Amino acid sequence: MKHEISELEWNDYLDGQAPVELRDHIEAHMIGCLECWEFYERLSEATRELGAASEEARLGLPLEDRRMHAMLRGIFSRIKPAGMKSQVEGRLNLLEEVLAPFCGAQAAQSALEAAAQNSPARSLDQVTPENWEPFLDRLSAIAGAMCGATFAGLIRESGRL
Ligand SMILES: [Zn+2]
Repeated sequence: MKHEISELEWNDYLDGQAPVELRDHIEAHMIGCLECWEFYERLSEATRELGAASEEARLGLPLEDRRMHAMLRGIFSRIKPAGMKSQVEGRLNLLEEVLAPFCGAQAAQSALEAAAQNSPARSLDQVTPENWEPFLDRLSAIAGAMCGATFAGLIRESGRL
């Protein structure tokens, strides 16, 4: 991976599990690298929102801590630094992974398809970077109706191209 920081190292750093030398290395690098700094800022924001969403979900759904943690790590490993162009397919997979633990795999897939059908893309395989924004708008609205406003915000953050 570029910038000499692996996904595993980012995960450990964001989890607060990085050893001192790694922490120093990442922080020293971020001071001089705007791209990684912005990446970190985005992840911190997503982490906070996901924490809040998890809290909401915990009140209504029997999600185990371990499962939630596994999901968090899965999400982190898929969010790439801003400079690395994300592919639509990768974003769709990520959105499905964010949705599925909250509403089930079937409903997650249905939500993605409904969002595509009700946006200019018209179908999931026609979603492109050019029609991504209206698609994401629809998906956020659907996610909001299913799981609440915090969750809709999380979907929006996760789906940013
Ligand atoms: Zn960097």
